[in-house]
Formats: sequence, C-alpha cells, structure tokens
Amino acid sequence: MATDGSPSLPFLFYTMHNHLMPTYARLPVRFERGRGPWLWDERGDRYLDALSGIAVCNLGHAHPAVAEALCEQARTLLHVSNLYRITLQEQLADTLCTRASMDTAFFANSGAEANEAAIKLARLWGHRRGIEQPTIIVTDGSFHGRTLATLTATGNRRVQAGFEPLVHGFLRVPYDDLAAIEAIAERTPDVVAVLVEPIQGEGGVRIPSPDYLPGIRRLCDDRGWLMMLDEVQTGMGRTGRWFGWEHSGAIPDVMTLAKALGNGVPIGACLARGEAATIFRPGSHASTFGGNPLVARAALAVLEVMHAEGLVERAARLGERMLGGLRERLADLPGVVEIRGRGLMLGVELDRPCTVLVERALEARLLINVTAERVVRLLPPLILADDEAELVIETVSRLVTDFLQE
Ligand SMILES: *Cc1c(COP(=O)(O)O)cnc(C)c1O
Repeated sequence: MATDGSPSLPFLFYTMHNHLMPTYARLPVRFERGRGPWLWDERGDRYLDALSGIAVCNLGHAHPAVAEALCEQARTLLHVSNLYRITLQEQLADTLCTRASMDTAFFANSGAEANEAAIKLARLWGHRRGIEQPTIIVTDGSFHGRTLATLTATGNRRVQAGFEPLVHGFLRVPYDDLAAIEAIAERTPDVVAVLVEPIQGEGGVRIPSPDYLPGIRRLCDDRGWLMMLDEVQTGMGRTGRWFGWEHSGAIPDVMTLAKALGNGVPIGACLARGEAATIFRPGSHASTFGGNPLVARAALAVLEVMHAEGLVERAARLGERMLGGLRERLADLPGVVEIRGRGLMLGVELDRPCTVLVERALEARLLINVTAERVVRLLPPLILADDEAELVIETVSRLVTDFLQE
C-alpha cells in the first residue's frame, strides 16, 4: 500500500499495451533463448538462425567463452569514463590494429557511429589541408547507418525520405564504377575521401569487380584522398577473411567495424592507418560508452574465440560449400538471376520481389532475410556445423523453388 492508502502497483507492471515506437515491421515471433546457431521461441519451438542478428552473432548465441568473459567483467568493472586510461580498450585497439594492419582505433557503440567517426575524421583531414568544404564520395545502393550524416551517405532514398535537409558534403556515384569517381576527380577539387563497402550488404550482396577497390586505392593515392571502407557487415571474418578488403589487397586508410565485433554487445570501431591515424586529437571526438571495460572485454573474447576456433578459415571453407550447394540446386531455375557470395555472406538474386520468403522460412523454422527486395540473403554464424549448413541450403532451395513455380 502507498502512504495515502491507495493500492500500489509494482514498478514493473505490464499493461500489455505496445509502447514501442513502430519503427520496425516485426515478424510475429519472440525468441527467448539461443545456443550456437539455434534459437527457441516462447513456445519452445526451435529455429535455425541463418542471419545471426544481421551479421552480429558470428560466434552463435550464448557462446560460453563470451558469456563467461562478460559475467566476470560485470562483476569486476563495467564502466569508467574515457577521462581515464582503460587497459582493456588499449588491449583491444592493439589486437585489432595488429590484425587489421591499422595504427589507431576510436571506439563507438554502433556501425553508424563508427561511420560518423570516419566522416568527421575525413572532414578534419580536409580542413587541415585547407579544403573548406570537404566532400566525401559515396555510392548508390550503399548503407552506412541511420544518423543524419550516415543516412545522407546511404544510397537509398527510402532511408532518407522525410529527413531532409540532409547533410552537405557528399557526392554520389554508381557502385563498382571507377570511371565515375575519376570524372568527379577531374571537376571537384574539394574531395577528401571515398567511402564504400567492400561488398554491399543491404544493397543486395553486391560484389564489385576485382579491380574496383585497387582502383579506388590508386585514385586516393594519386589525389591525396582517404580510402575509407565500411566493414561494419563484411568485417570480422564474415567473408572468409578477417576483413573484406583483404580479398583485394587494397588496404584502406580508414575502416569501420561494428556488428560482429562484440557478438551482440554494442560496439563499433573506426580504425585508421598512416597519416589518417593522427588526425583526431584530444577533444576531436568522444563517446561516453565507447570502448568501456565491458564491451572491450567482450570484443577481446570474440577475437580470441575466432582465432582459437579458426572461424575465419571456417567461414571461407563453409561459404564455398554453401555457395556450391545453392548453385547446384538453384542456378538453372528460371527466375534465379544470380547466386553470389563470399565466405558466409551469401545472396540469391531473383527476378521478382520475394520478401514473402522471409515469413515462409520462419514457418519452416529458419531465419533468413531478403534485402533490396529481390535478394535472399544468408549470413549464418561462422560456427555453423556442416550438417546445419546442409539444412539451410536444403530449406532455402526448397522455398525458392516452390516460390518460383507459383
Ligand atoms: C548495419 C550496417 C551499418 C549500421 O550499423 P548500426 O550498428 O545499425 O548503426 C553501417 N554500415 C553497414 C555496411 C552495415 O551493414
């Protein structure tokens, strides 16, 4: 009873009304627990997860080593301000930079924020060179996040519509089109950087031609621009290499990570190399939570598990097999435009919108995704077992075959 005699309600009192802002079109399922590539809903039904929370849970759900590291860290020290030195953050920067051939890291809490850091870094870089209106080249079909700067950089009108005025200082070119970047170079003196994904994820698993990233590297070297890669989705072993750029050998000046870096714990990173690594100074940028002891510990555990379990190599091997399996079963079907992928980033492009396949897969107890309306996208965890991979291929092939025959 409250002091005035009226009956008191417990603080956690559920009215069963939905008070969430309806920003997501959610599927009618609630998952209660997970283990490896499996999820269980509230009725106890089991689902095979071939999406990993959109390339986040690369080690699967509830990985014991990550869970143990998190619990121990929570009992030791969750957070201190970046006003102080943080050993775990320094260790994470050291490990990541060594692995990625980068020099310095800034830690944020998401992919969008990691890209914000990269965009700010590029602008500072420009101003230091006397460029007053620094301009960043971005591409059609890209996805860089939902903050104002990153949705401006994103090459999808649906992400931008209604949020005008957008941010100045971006120029857009078609993806996988070096000539378009060269043409801009000729007429725009204010360019300071190119920002692209090594493979477009949300844009439909679009893999550029082999000379694209090396071509951007060459242009950036010639012009004094920064080559900035958004590896938020492609990074951390997803494509069968630690980072997507490694397939091309074209090392960026700046790269961003997030998604799988914490296996579900929110963390993003902006890494830089060479001169770009020295642009930020005290006061240039900051984040309250960025790189705190808890998330740094989680990311260190992720890196350790990836190394110990050989998961990058596994992604490469398993990816080849899954791509082969999908091609074997689907490539000759009328309606299938292309089956492509690198590592465990796989896409089946159809000639028609196929978003309905997401619900049908859910009914078949499989989690997949459709992006760019017509591309069935698979981003399974890197710990997927061979027979589980087989099950994914079988189920997806059956669903796509049935759908195309309607
Ligand atoms: C998911 C994604 C982002 C945005 O990450 P958030 O953590 O949602 O802000 C940015 N870039 C790419 C390539 C992504 O796939």
